[in-house]
Amino acid sequence: SKKSRSRDLLEFKDIFIAVKTTRKYHKSRLELLIQTWVSQAKEQTYIFTDGEDKELRIRTGANIINTNCSAAHTRQALCCKMSVEYDKFIESQKKWFCHVDDDNYVILPSLLRLLSSYHHSQDVYLGRPSLDHPIEAAERVKSDGSVSVKFWFATGGAGFCISRGLALKMSPWASLGNFISTAERIRLPDDCTIGYIIEALLEVTLTHTHLFHSHLENLQKLPTDTVLEQVTLSFGGFKNRRNVVSIVGGFSLAEDPTRFKTVHCLLYPDTNWCPKLQHR
Ligand code: UDP
Ligand code: MN
Repeated sequence: SKKSRSRDLLEFKDIFIAVKTTRKYHKSRLELLIQTWVSQAKEQTYIFTDGEDKELRIRTGANIINTNCSAAHTRQALCCKMSVEYDKFIESQKKWFCHVDDDNYVILPSLLRLLSSYHHSQDVYLGRPSLDHPIEAAERVKSDGSVSVKFWFATGGAGFCISRGLALKMSPWASLGNFISTAERIRLPDDCTIGYIIEALLEVTLTHTHLFHSHLENLQKLPTDTVLEQVTLSFGGFKNRRNVVSIVGGFSLAEDPTRFKTVHCLLYPDTNWCPKLQHR
């Protein structure tokens, strides 16, 4: 019936969005996210950092979680953050876990549309593969040697999502500190370790999507008329050049070097700091 169908509809509150950041990027990156897309998803966005910033928490009202993980850019520190993200998601009872970096813009309507086409109780791992072939890793077995394993993984810098059904199955390798020992088995970064648990250990395949974007691809190449339909965007360095999406709106490149404000004002034109539309 119509009633039961509407009861099954996915809502924003069912999605847990984890943003990975570090103390030194609170001002330069996080503030921009809080001002833009996070403001539209305050209740379901959790920011995982490594240093106290009471001022930011009080001023913005954002959910900021100090992981107490090291602020070093090491495999151990990054895996420590990912394991806290995982544990908080499990605790949240939400239906979908999505992870992004602090240089990602999440286009919330597109994310909701994408996740609505799957079911949270099924095994779903969605993201952009960072290579055009599966990664080959040496998996340490016992103390005496290693075997080779091949698997796909979603690049963390473009964001990825995991259904609750699948996340629960990951628990023996991902929960409460197990994530760090799992990462040590293959000595690869956090996003590869997620792929290893899902593809190699649980034998669930990554659903490849090109709606997620990191600054490791040429963002200028995204057709302007498709930018607002993507799920994640990014900005940053690529082959030593500034790499941002090409989109035109109320802000110049100088005023909005990441293009995130321009994207935000096209999505939410009523935002009080957005330039009023000029009728010419
Ligand atoms: N990051 C972190 N600790 C660090 C450095 C970076 O948690 O010591 C986070 C950063 O906030 C971002 C992600 O790791 O969410 C990727 O960092 P960045 O964009 O600087 O590097 P990339 O790998 O994209 O070149
Ligand atoms: Mn980055």
